[in-house]
Amino acid sequence: MIASVLPTYNRAPLAFERGEGAWLTTTEGARFLDLGAGIAVNALGHAHPALVGALTDQAGKLWHVSNLYEIPHQQRLADKLVEHTFADTVFFTNSGTEAAELAIKMARKYWTAKEEDRVEIVAFEGAFHGRSTGAIAMAGGEKLTRGFGPLMPGFRHLPWGDHDALRAAVTARTAAVIVEPVQGEGGIRPLPDVCLKGLRDLCDETGALMILDEVQCGMGRTGRLFAHEWAGVAPDIMMVAKGIGGGFPLGALLATERAATGMTAGTHGSTYGGNPLACAVGCAVMDIVTDARFLAEVRRKAALFRQKLEGLVAAHPGVFAGVRGLGLMLGLKCVPANTAVVQAGYGEGVLTVPGGDNVVRILPPLTLTEDDIAEGIARLDRAAARLASAA
Ligand SMILES: *Cc1c(COP(=O)(O)O)cnc(C)c1O
Repeated sequence: MIASVLPTYNRAPLAFERGEGAWLTTTEGARFLDLGAGIAVNALGHAHPALVGALTDQAGKLWHVSNLYEIPHQQRLADKLVEHTFADTVFFTNSGTEAAELAIKMARKYWTAKEEDRVEIVAFEGAFHGRSTGAIAMAGGEKLTRGFGPLMPGFRHLPWGDHDALRAAVTARTAAVIVEPVQGEGGIRPLPDVCLKGLRDLCDETGALMILDEVQCGMGRTGRLFAHEWAGVAPDIMMVAKGIGGGFPLGALLATERAATGMTAGTHGSTYGGNPLACAVGCAVMDIVTDARFLAEVRRKAALFRQKLEGLVAAHPGVFAGVRGLGLMLGLKCVPANTAVVQAGYGEGVLTVPGGDNVVRILPPLTLTEDDIAEGIARLDRAAARLASAA
């Protein structure tokens, strides 16, 4: 008999009841250090007072009115995003997938509004842009698309890091190129700054729109508000979600005025997108994450964490083959199956997230403390020792 919850997830047998900062407590009272942050979502940890305050304040006033009316919190959040990024305009969604859908629509509409026949969107192997029919067609890859055809046409997939293939594929017929500055699901693969710069140049030469998916790597995770800032380039369109709601479902699509030209009244919409609850929380998250001192702290803690992870790798060559990533978006390349390493972590009270390329992802709350880092390393060290002795 099928489970009453559709069995599309491989869940660990852990149920959490409450959280504080980087720590979670199970229904049985066991404490876990959360180095996964709900897949890079709880950027400010669990039960952050500013977010609890913003949400409960708003919950007592107004939850939903629809986009038939003005929503002051939505306006405020859009203004903050515009102030702190390349963007001129923002559309709010409830998830990263919905932002991907709008990215596709916006890119297509940009060219049809110009009456130019440019529909192809170029994407990369190992990409992840969500699970809707459009997002899986865009990312490609057997794992996401198998059995769900016929897939939406209009996408081309290139190998990761093949500059010649990119130069050949992106032409004056290309509508857009989409890339994650740091691939998340693909296994924490940062795109080198020179590649992002080269991609910007190629888009400028050909007119193709540059779409960045910063759903996982954005909102301060890499130590800059958005990961592309490291390369000193700006996209035309950018997807944001995960961290922006700090745990409340919220996503956004940011765009320049030029890229958004086709998106006139009636061309897109969402019942819930940008609702008062989500945007009240989003504003609170933005106020904290845009603070230069906060981002400097993320960079400092990231350097410390990475250095300690290098030590961990050196101590357990039979378990770990290397560290990679940017800021607090870190990956441990594993020797045994990454799922076995995540499992061993559960035994030591530490949560990590498996990713592609046999990597264990470390995506902690950006607010974690130095003590949390030391504790995380100690727990991962015990988990690795447990695995090594079992091997
Ligand atoms: C999680 C993720 C998405 C999809 O976001 P959802 O909120 O799960 O729909 C898209 N792109 C990237 C890079 C992601 O990590």
